[in-house]
Amino acid sequence: MDEFAIIAKYFTPLAGESAFGLKDDSAIVPARAGHDLVVTTDTIAQGTDFFPADPPDTIAQKVLRVNLSDLAAKGAVPAHYLLNLTLPRTVTQDWLAAFADGLARDQKEFGVSLLGGDTGTGELSISVTAFGFVPQGKMVKRGGAKIGDAVYVTGTIGDSGGGLAILKGEKHALPDADRDYLTNRYRVPQPPVGFAQQLRAIAHASVDVSDGLMADLGHIAAVSHVGLVVEGERVPLSAPVEALWGAQALIRAVTVGDDYQAAFTAPPGLNGPFTRIGQVVAGEGVSLTVNGREVGIPLTGYQHF
Ligand code: ADP
Ligand code: MG
Repeated sequence: MDEFAIIAKYFTPLAGESAFGLKDDSAIVPARAGHDLVVTTDTIAQGTDFFPADPPDTIAQKVLRVNLSDLAAKGAVPAHYLLNLTLPRTVTQDWLAAFADGLARDQKEFGVSLLGGDTGTGELSISVTAFGFVPQGKMVKRGGAKIGDAVYVTGTIGDSGGGLAILKGEKHALPDADRDYLTNRYRVPQPPVGFAQQLRAIAHASVDVSDGLMADLGHIAAVSHVGLVVEGERVPLSAPVEALWGAQALIRAVTVGDDYQAAFTAPPGLNGPFTRIGQVVAGEGVSLTVNGREVGIPLTGYQHF
C-alpha cells in the first residue's frame, strides 16, 4: 500500500470539515470570534512513551491524549489535531486499522477531528499537534500563582509510572486487576479534558503534569516567583500504587512522570473534581512535607538528556 492509499483508507474517514478530505496541501482552522487558538505538540517515541508491542489503538489514544492534557491544563477546549506518522515499512493493515480505530473512538469522546498530517517511513514515531480554543486572553498560564493560594491536582498521581515500572519488569505481587489498572493508565492517559472550563474559571496558574508532579510544580514556582509546599499526606494515590510501592509510594509517585493531569493554584477552600495538595508561599522552589516535616526528594523529574 502506498502512502496515499494509507491516507485515503485509514485517515480520510477521520478528517474534519475544513480538512478538505485530506486532499489539499493545507487545512483551515476555522476561527472562533472572541477566542484565542491554543496550540501544542507532543511526540511519542517507542521505548520511552510506549512499547512496540502495545495495542495500536492505545498508542493512538496516548499520542492524542498527551496533547489534549496540555490543552486541558490551559483551560482550552480541544477542537482539531494534525498527525505526523513515521511508520516502519513492515507496518500491517491490521496495525493501521486498529490505530485508526483508537483515534476514531477518542475523536468521539473528546470532540476533535483530524485536519491533516504527514506520513513517512522509518522507526515508528508519532507526533500530534492539537488545537483548542479559550475565550480571548483567558488561557491559564504557569505564571500567576499568588501567595496564599492552595495547590490542587486532578486525578491520582503515579499510576502511569507504576504501570511503566511493571512493564519494565519491576517485581510485584499485585492481583491482575491492579496490574492491569496501572498498565492501562500508562498506555491510555485520562486527561481532565471535561474540567478545562471550570479550571479556567478558578485557576491562577496551571501546568500539565507530564514529567513528575514535583518537577512540573517547579515550573509554576519558577515562572510565578513563589514557593510551593506539597503536603505529601494529601497527594491522591490510588490503591494499586500504594500496593505496588508500599512505603516508597509517595516519593516515587511524585517523581515519576506520565500522569497527564492538571496541577494548579487557586483560592483555598474550593471543592470539585480535584484534590488540595498544598499551598503557595513566599520564596522559591517546591518542597514536600509529610505531617509537617520536610522530606528530601530526588531533584528532577523525567528528563530526556
Ligand atoms: P505534502 O506533499 O505537502 O507532504 P502529502 O502529500 O504528504 O503533502 O499529504 C497529502 C494530504 O494528506 C494532506 O492533506 C495531508 O495533510 C494529508 N496527510 C498526510 N499524512 C497524514 C496523516 N498521517 N494523517 C492525516 N493526514 C495526513
Ligand atoms: Mg507529506
